[in-house]
Amino acid sequence: MRFFMSILTAPHFHDEAAAFAKLESVIWPNGPVCPHCGNTEKVYALNGVRSKASAKNPNGVERFGLKKCGKCRKQFTARVGTVFESSHIPLHLWLQAVHLLCCSKKGISSHQLHRILEIKYQSAWFMSHRIREAMRVGGLMPPMGGEGDVVEADETFIGRKKDVRKNHGYQHKNAVLSLVSRTTGEVRSFHIDAATQANILPIVQGNLADEATIHTDEARYYSELKKDFTHETVSHKDDEYVRGNVTTNTIEGYFSIFKRGMKGVYQHCSEKHLHRYLAEFDFRYSNRVKLGVDDSLRADRALSGISGKRLTYRAP
Ligand SMILES: [Zn+2]
Repeated sequence: MRFFMSILTAPHFHDEAAAFAKLESVIWPNGPVCPHCGNTEKVYALNGVRSKASAKNPNGVERFGLKKCGKCRKQFTARVGTVFESSHIPLHLWLQAVHLLCCSKKGISSHQLHRILEIKYQSAWFMSHRIREAMRVGGLMPPMGGEGDVVEADETFIGRKKDVRKNHGYQHKNAVLSLVSRTTGEVRSFHIDAATQANILPIVQGNLADEATIHTDEARYYSELKKDFTHETVSHKDDEYVRGNVTTNTIEGYFSIFKRGMKGVYQHCSEKHLHRYLAEFDFRYSNRVKLGVDDSLRADRALSGISGKRLTYRAP
């Protein structure tokens, strides 16, 4: 645990007021925005305000980051409208959790998080899934593979499907399809029901730009791509892995990081949550040091994602 503690030295990981200042700087780079009316002018900081006395806290507790809108007169903090609002976990512990998940190459299990942050296991589990959800790139994504770029696509298999008892090759495993752009370094992964042309082809087609060049192995699911895109293949069954610039080595490198992490850290990932673990590994890979994203920028990006997303299940 000492290793983890040593990287969590910044004040916002330990001090609640500093944690609010950090969150505000990420979500309000141009100053506070009232979540009730959208006003950005004349927002006042209310310092030293305490909550009402309760049996547990006879003197109340300090309300960090409290603001008052000069227009609608309502009060708010940077937590309003975010997952942090519905959670009783102090913000500085959330920031530690975000940092740990963003900056550990293979991820952090809920058990590790529970021990490091000294919070309940259920809370750690909830937090880590919310952070993964924040890492998920949602909505309409721009096509991959613009002019001069090459996109690699491949499938891999992981874990065991719930309802399949017999072992027929890969049929009992969860299939994952991933695409990576060699130019931007971005990776996108999809949990698919089985590696079939019907599952694979629409996803690949739907994520590629018209002018895209796509490299895959010789698998027949991809053969249709030739009709619409520049499609090159390497023949893995003939031991061909690189031919000129044609290769799927980039995406295979990504799969090896993903699998090492899943094996080493997340041994008990259920099928239901696989898409969230994929989001986590995609996020770290698409925001990696080699692409100029350092640990703190990666954590800031996840933090701004959390502030914009809501899950339906209840906060512990
Ligand atoms: Zn307002």
